[in-house]
Amino acid sequence: MIRIDDPRLRRCFFFSLLILLIAVASALAESTETNQRRVTKLAEGVYSIEHESLNDGSSSGNTTVIIGDREVFVVDSCYRPLSAQKDIAQIRQWTNKPVGYLLNTHFHNDHNNGNKTYMDAFPSLAIIAQEETKKDMDLIQPGNVKRQPGELAALIATFKQGKDQSGRTLSEDEKKQVQELLPGLEQAEAESKTLVYQSPTLTFTDELNIDIGNREVQVKHLGRGNTPGDAIVYLPKEKIIVAGDLLVKPIPYTYDGYPAEWAQTLHKMGELDATTIVPGHGPVLYEKTYLYLVADLMQSAVEQVHARISQIGFPGGHTLDEVKGSVDLTPFRQRFASNDKDLQTRFDDMADHLVKITFSEAAQR
Ligand SMILES: [Zn+2]
Repeated sequence: MIRIDDPRLRRCFFFSLLILLIAVASALAESTETNQRRVTKLAEGVYSIEHESLNDGSSSGNTTVIIGDREVFVVDSCYRPLSAQKDIAQIRQWTNKPVGYLLNTHFHNDHNNGNKTYMDAFPSLAIIAQEETKKDMDLIQPGNVKRQPGELAALIATFKQGKDQSGRTLSEDEKKQVQELLPGLEQAEAESKTLVYQSPTLTFTDELNIDIGNREVQVKHLGRGNTPGDAIVYLPKEKIIVAGDLLVKPIPYTYDGYPAEWAQTLHKMGELDATTIVPGHGPVLYEKTYLYLVADLMQSAVEQVHARISQIGFPGGHTLDEVKGSVDLTPFRQRFASNDKDLQTRFDDMADHLVKITFSEAAQR
């Protein structure tokens, strides 16, 4: 059964539409995640927004809104400008103060495609990113923006011919589901033609502290993890962390990243005095158990891959296939997925990618 609203598909949007096409053709299990926009008040004047997936199947990373006496600080600007517009309308209901700062937590475009929408709405805005994130965005995003309309048009044309991306003819059931997706995909295609890349305008290396008016916002790069330039926000008075995709619940994103450093980065995050953590995707967390679970998972992958390398020698002379059979992450499956079949499948998929990026990180040392 085709489910374009499956989180695995949504996540794939920012990497390549090609992956999406392949995934669309796969039989996917029912998602257990809810598909509702959810606003959570974290403290007076601090809100997090979990976004619903749109009718093209795409979804955005969480957005956090921090309102000061003078101006507003926003963390992440969504995948679709449509979602960013909705968030801006919501912010304007909360306050008449302008958004002065927008942070992009990392380069994946489900967190920054909406930059231009914010810049148009608040022309004196500063868009902050860690310096590596700006480099990656400037390298990757202009091409993404350019390719996207053509890729979406090709996907729509393929579906209209009753086929999937591999040329396989869709079953009658699949055709019905595709029919439901087409209006959303066509809307996304139209919007993608208007997408304009907006680069960050203010970079930092390790730390940037900003007072937005009776409220201190600390922006930190604690080390590499999900990407080379992950940034988090810490509100010391309110004891809130906004983690970006260093933490994603219920199943971490491991298509990219540096697991050995990731575990260390999470431990540094855990040292911050916080009672509330906003992950990059998924519900707000009110304790650190999940943070340490993800750190333990990363650490276990690293230790097992390293143990195997110590048996076979220099990783550059070996392939992933010679390593992956020696790594078993299934002891963690129950803790992430409990007895949910869909989550278990997603865990296994995530674990495969985790071993791959752990090996690649070790090979590059
Ligand atoms: Zn994300």
